[in-house]
Amino acid sequence: MSQYAVPVVWSPETRRHDPRHEVWVGVATEGTETAARVDAILEALRTEGHDLVESRPQPDDALLAVHEPELLEFLRSAAARWAAGPYRDLVGQERVVPYLFPTPAMTAGMPARPAVAVHADAGRFAYDTMTLVGPGTWEAARAAADCAVLAAGLVAGGAPLAYALSRPPGHHATPAGFGGSCYLNNAAVAAATLRASGAQRVGIVDIDAHQGNGTAAIFYERADMLYGSVHVDPAAGWFPHVVGYAAETGVGAGEGATRNLPLPEGSGDEQWLAAVAELAEWVTAAGCDHLVVSLGVDAAADDPESPLQVSADGYREAGRLLGETALPAVAVQEGGYHLPTLGGLVAAYLDGHASA
Ligand SMILES: [Zn+2]
Repeated sequence: MSQYAVPVVWSPETRRHDPRHEVWVGVATEGTETAARVDAILEALRTEGHDLVESRPQPDDALLAVHEPELLEFLRSAAARWAAGPYRDLVGQERVVPYLFPTPAMTAGMPARPAVAVHADAGRFAYDTMTLVGPGTWEAARAAADCAVLAAGLVAGGAPLAYALSRPPGHHATPAGFGGSCYLNNAAVAAATLRASGAQRVGIVDIDAHQGNGTAAIFYERADMLYGSVHVDPAAGWFPHVVGYAAETGVGAGEGATRNLPLPEGSGDEQWLAAVAELAEWVTAAGCDHLVVSLGVDAAADDPESPLQVSADGYREAGRLLGETALPAVAVQEGGYHLPTLGGLVAAYLDGHASA
């Protein structure tokens, strides 16, 4: 058992997002980032005796510290724009699916304007076709970010560790973009909240199976927010594909404040924990005074979304390694999609962290 009960900040609103399907390599595949994840995790943490804390709406400050207001406005209004359009008759479904991406390849320096049709406008913010916006998506994403704000507030107020059951996840959401099943960057929001509460330097350690390109992008030029990640190598063909390489170390004032530790497909506890230990030492040596853990449990062997082979004991040991930093910490839920084991993996991490 953990040495202390960890506050588990959650919200029933986070169940409102239903991705239904993702458009992946041209076909509609069933979405794995489902509301059932919330209940699987809640059940496991309740059984472990942690303290469930129901979240409530929080101010916009932390969100605006990490995202462009245009992204927030798009996500807030997209489902209503879709419902007001001709889509029900045309295609008979109510998810906003981007169809046009106005990248520099298209605009070529021309004075491009925001598209009027929402299915074309979505590509201004969406960077993939698998992260759809439907009724309830904004409410759930906003509630997930509020969970992170509240959990960070508990840590700023003296809790050694708080956990945000943020869903949908967030670490792929960039300053002005959404993708990778992420809409709002909950971990970045937690870090910004800590910073606004007096933290001088926040270390973010991302142990999700995939590199958190959104968090990396948000803080790439910052010296006061370190971002370190262990993840499956994007060079082996894994999300986020175009970034997440070891050579990315930050720019300007942020030079040296980003660290990527990509691992080969099939890596298990030994290689993964060596990387987690390296990141724990890194944030400690850099003088961070607070820690945010992007707690994805999709590196587990039975997870359908990644080829890493980490065990539940591996997650417990990762918790111990990061708990040993003795930094006040916010753990924010990221990925993890195998419903039968998902809750136990989160519980194992928190147990390790709270027992260190
Ligand atoms: Zn992931």
